[in-house]
Amino acid sequence: MLVACSTTLGIENVDSSDRTLDENEPWSDSDTTGDSTDTQSDGGSGTDEPIEEIVPAESSELDEVWPDYRAFLADAIPDIEQFWRDNYSLVYRGDYTELGGGVHAHFPDNTADLPVGCAFVGDYSDVEENAFYCDEGDFIVYDDAVLFPEFADEFGMSVTALVIAHEWGHAIQGPNRNDILYSYASTTIELQADCFAGAWVADAQRNGVKGVRLSDRDVTSALLGLIQLGDVPGGLPDDPAAHGSAFDRVSAFQDGYLGGVVPCAGYEESEPLPLQFGFTLEELQRPNPSDFPFDQEMFDLLTGDLALYWNVVAPLLDADWIEPTVTLVAEAETPPTCAERIRPAPGVWFCPRGSRLVVDVDLAKRVYDEIPGDFAVAYLLALGYAESVRQTLPIATDGEQAALLNDCLAGMWTGDILPFNTDPAVESTEETPRVGLSPGDLDEAIRLAILIGDESFDTDVVGSPFEKVDAFRQGVFFGAAGCR
Ligand SMILES: [Zn+2]
Repeated sequence: MLVACSTTLGIENVDSSDRTLDENEPWSDSDTTGDSTDTQSDGGSGTDEPIEEIVPAESSELDEVWPDYRAFLADAIPDIEQFWRDNYSLVYRGDYTELGGGVHAHFPDNTADLPVGCAFVGDYSDVEENAFYCDEGDFIVYDDAVLFPEFADEFGMSVTALVIAHEWGHAIQGPNRNDILYSYASTTIELQADCFAGAWVADAQRNGVKGVRLSDRDVTSALLGLIQLGDVPGGLPDDPAAHGSAFDRVSAFQDGYLGGVVPCAGYEESEPLPLQFGFTLEELQRPNPSDFPFDQEMFDLLTGDLALYWNVVAPLLDADWIEPTVTLVAEAETPPTCAERIRPAPGVWFCPRGSRLVVDVDLAKRVYDEIPGDFAVAYLLALGYAESVRQTLPIATDGEQAALLNDCLAGMWTGDILPFNTDPAVESTEETPRVGLSPGDLDEAIRLAILIGDESFDTDVVGSPFEKVDAFRQGVFFGAAGCR
């Protein structure tokens, strides 16, 4: 994140690197114990799961069936192929044809005879940390030495098949089949490939790969991997923005997941409008240089900005909002005691009485380190503020509906600090500079939203990853109108 200056979007990076967290600095004051006469109750927002358990499962049923991702892929690749034999005619004329150049693993010292095309002449370095489809040779090649082992390790083996399914989507678009690879915006092409991948995943959940069904957890963690992938398919503009933002990609995946290949083909009639960020190519290629250091100042900037925003916007929603006091507590300290304690996000508690927000700073630090990024912490805080606003809205909500409304309200604030927002609720001034999003920030929020979403798509506690991302997106794009 950045602190915006008042006049330009050119944005000035705050260098607060000299301000690091004083390990001995207490995060809390005596305010955390609350009123001893209060009755303590959990607001019914779930248990206080540690973040370690929110991070994707290290094992899934797939691990019991296949010894490693390579063995899994040996079955998943024919499954993807069969999926297209079965589904191609639903959306396109003519017959589906097999990939003329096949699917190939690549690694250093690979002596196999590989197809060539799209400036690829077999060098491992051209596919290192990547996977792509080449239309000239009608083949898919993937990095089997670094990318796939690392992805499988981090997200589970299902992600490797999801990447292949995305590349297969490009093969469907290729000249030997539907021949649209160069007819549409590269974002449309990429999002359609994500949509096709979602369609296959839903099929693999319903029918299984060799009879083994992917679990919701396999899907969720694979999705986290997919949104990190930036393939360089032959000939397509080598533009990292070409894949769309993470929530564009999740939405596209969801379209295919819910509707099969038909809505994906529909992108050719009505192209999805991806979130266009005003970032330069160079900025987008940087990992994320603009994270605030994790310190008190980061919390002050974020809570200050949230307060600025809601002080103006809450009255517009007829909310009788009182700015909450925010207290940071260490994990070891007890959560707040208050009459009605609500937990709108992991490590975030809200006490409506007296409007108090309490944040577990150790959990926030883990989120900062593991997602990683400052905007993941911003999203946690935004959910806390959203809860404080939601409580005072004239219309009552509860359960999953309340949680999703919080995501939408958090999205409203996020939309207000988008760098290209020309009409923010609160202008950035010298005295009250607003924070602003930097490249990668939205992805951080999306990654956390996916991780803290309900584990199964059928459970309704805080919303499925799809529902959460969608609610957040509605708020970002449409403001209050998106949250009705
Ligand atoms: Zn792609």
